[in-house]
Amino acid sequence: MENKFAERARLVKSSETREILKVTEQPEVISFAGGLPAPELFPVEDLKTACHAVLNEDGAASLQYSPTEGYIPLREAICKRMQEIGVYSTVKDILITSGSQQAIDLTGRLFINDKDVIICESPTYLAAINAFKSYNAEFVEIEMDENGMMMDHLEKKLQEYPNAKLIYTIPDFQNPTGRTLTRERRQRMIELANAYDVLIVEDNPYGGVRFAGETLPPVKHFDTEGRVIYISTFSKIFAPGLRIGWVCADEAFIDKYVEFKQVADLHTDSFAQRITAKYMELYDIEEHIKKIRAVYKARCTEMLACIKEFFPKDLSYSKPEGGLFIWIELPEGVNSTLIFAECLKNNVACVPGVPFFPNGTQKDGLRLNYSNMSKEQIIEGMKRIGEVLHRELAKGTALL
Ligand code: PMP
Repeated sequence: MENKFAERARLVKSSETREILKVTEQPEVISFAGGLPAPELFPVEDLKTACHAVLNEDGAASLQYSPTEGYIPLREAICKRMQEIGVYSTVKDILITSGSQQAIDLTGRLFINDKDVIICESPTYLAAINAFKSYNAEFVEIEMDENGMMMDHLEKKLQEYPNAKLIYTIPDFQNPTGRTLTRERRQRMIELANAYDVLIVEDNPYGGVRFAGETLPPVKHFDTEGRVIYISTFSKIFAPGLRIGWVCADEAFIDKYVEFKQVADLHTDSFAQRITAKYMELYDIEEHIKKIRAVYKARCTEMLACIKEFFPKDLSYSKPEGGLFIWIELPEGVNSTLIFAECLKNNVACVPGVPFFPNGTQKDGLRLNYSNMSKEQIIEGMKRIGEVLHRELAKGTALL
């Protein structure tokens, strides 16, 4: 029966890594693999109050079909948050989506023709690669350094691919590297996008989770021609299970997203939207986010200290000022999948770098998540990964 699948079903392949990662869910495994927020920080009690209030005040409407664009008080609250970070949009520029993942998928559906070129960071977010691959996009990867995507390399590739459709970027605490694009590069990216007439898709789920350094305005803040489509989410600052994300873009774009979202799922969960809006009405979400930042800062600091203490001395790694991930660069020729397999034998998991490179591995690495494990688990897990790295790098068995 598999011959019945559409051609596009062949475009996304279940990667070996994804299959192995299922093993990391076993309780005995210390897992730095997922991108899961710390569950103990979910505001469960406050959400009970918010749920009751929604059902008491607005029960029937919260369980009814609702407009595709989203619940207006929630769009208003998002609009206010956008203004606070320097994006002066109106409510009409905001569409609520089922997580930011849906926004990424709708972006592919809306903009990508067969073999259209997407320019992205190398490496980049795995599930965006797969979403765009399902529309048969081609990828042009741009090298990164500690300050994110390199603009001279971007310009070269824009010259080489004058018909590129869009630049997909995660400017803040990038997934998987944890790196952040500097203010100057954000401005330069806009200049280049204007000059070469490409769209920018700014995927920004982590900007709110800055725990050190200076806050930077989103790329969209510098947008002069309405060519930045900004995508974000409540997943990392509130609760991913509610599946509330949004697109902020010019109204003409939003209208088209609405048409496509309508055929995808009619609208985002009415109840979840109202719960999120009610929570923000009753409580100060900034206070909540402060707690998240403090915990992630402590965990990130712990993980960085463990790298210094337990990992081979010559490895390079990112030192994030926010977000959820640290990226370990592996020396040339070292196979991250093999390191990952050895780690798993020792009941510790991370994500090997391979699937984050849409055209095949460039500078291989390991992605480590620090938000979801306790201090004790971080210390124990990092010791185990350190032992594997020392052993495998010394033996040379990790060399391809
Ligand atoms: N973009 C990036 C860069 C992500 O890391 C994630 C989730 N880890 C998402 C989008 C999707 O998040 P959600 O659908 O929960 O909003």
